[in-house]
Amino acid sequence: MAGPIVYHRGPDFPELLTGVVEDAKKLFPTQDELFLLSSSGSGVMEAAVVNTLSPGDRVIVAQAGNFGARWTDICNAYGIEVVSVDGEWGTSIGAERIAGELTADASIKAVLTTQSETSTGAMHDIPAIGQAVADHEALLIVDGISSVCAHPLDTAAYGVDVALTGSQKGLGLPPGLAVMTLSQRAAAAAENAKCPRFYFDISRYRASLSEGRGPSTLPVTLISGLRAALDLVENEGIAEVWNRHARQAGAVREAIWSIGLECFADSPSNALTAVSLPESIDGVELMQRLSQSYGAVIGGGLAHLRGRVVRISNLGFVTDDDIRFIVQALEETLAWMGYRFDRGSAIAAADKALG
Ligand SMILES: *Cc1c(COP(=O)(O)O)cnc(C)c1O
Repeated sequence: MAGPIVYHRGPDFPELLTGVVEDAKKLFPTQDELFLLSSSGSGVMEAAVVNTLSPGDRVIVAQAGNFGARWTDICNAYGIEVVSVDGEWGTSIGAERIAGELTADASIKAVLTTQSETSTGAMHDIPAIGQAVADHEALLIVDGISSVCAHPLDTAAYGVDVALTGSQKGLGLPPGLAVMTLSQRAAAAAENAKCPRFYFDISRYRASLSEGRGPSTLPVTLISGLRAALDLVENEGIAEVWNRHARQAGAVREAIWSIGLECFADSPSNALTAVSLPESIDGVELMQRLSQSYGAVIGGGLAHLRGRVVRISNLGFVTDDDIRFIVQALEETLAWMGYRFDRGSAIAAADKALG
């Protein structure tokens, strides 16, 4: 990324762009068409909505957290009617509830949900939701922004019509580049979708991609970074990347359980672990101490979970030693803050799980 800027109208760009577009398909995996947009994750969520839906459409938003709720905000902004299938933060939405709503209302055009809910660390069971949606006309649109690279999001096997991710999560890149896949059904829906759109109009991207270009200037530096990230994934093998996330998230879970703490999520994601803190420990102070004493940055609790939960991520290119480091730092800091537990048990549990 620190190399010279590749000229986006120059002779070398089409090969770079079409190469990353093809190789990015292996991350999900998907055989569907795939587009790179210059936006953050929320931008590609909006792109998914405006390209497949029309004002007045009815959709189901299945959510139990901050990022799932964003689907509702986007739909509201475009006059799309939302049927909420929601749950307490930390839970996962049961596919049977979605199936029930779809059966009750045949006019539902799409089901929008989140694979890994980053605010709570919970996984939604996309294969099960996909099965629930498969008997109906509705499209399945899945925010995979924090799950892609940590979990498979196999669009054909799970019945996903639109899948999304962003550069700054599992790909370990700076923010600003987003990925969207579109099934044939979703592409057909885009032909009739009436939401106003220009910058995110996928037909413009499709037309330019056929010439190896973008409809406007693409973030070429991020695309060079994506080339490097995809090469790292290719070298490790995507199945091993998923295994690594499972092993490392598993080690963090074992570590916190071993000292009497709980995961906030009923069904935890392998992208991150949200840790419920005991009453006596303030999460904001814990984060500050980790940062000041160890230079370690973890996530805080969002909204009403501020101070009550901390979120430890192993998303991207994290090493097993990084996991040992954060577990050790967490142990020492919790002990320093007066939390009582068997010292050394968290790091022992993590070590054992890492193998
Ligand atoms: C980070 C994230 C988003 C939002 O992405 P931005 O890049 O901040 O717009 C949306 N959904 C999930 C699941 C995320 O983890």
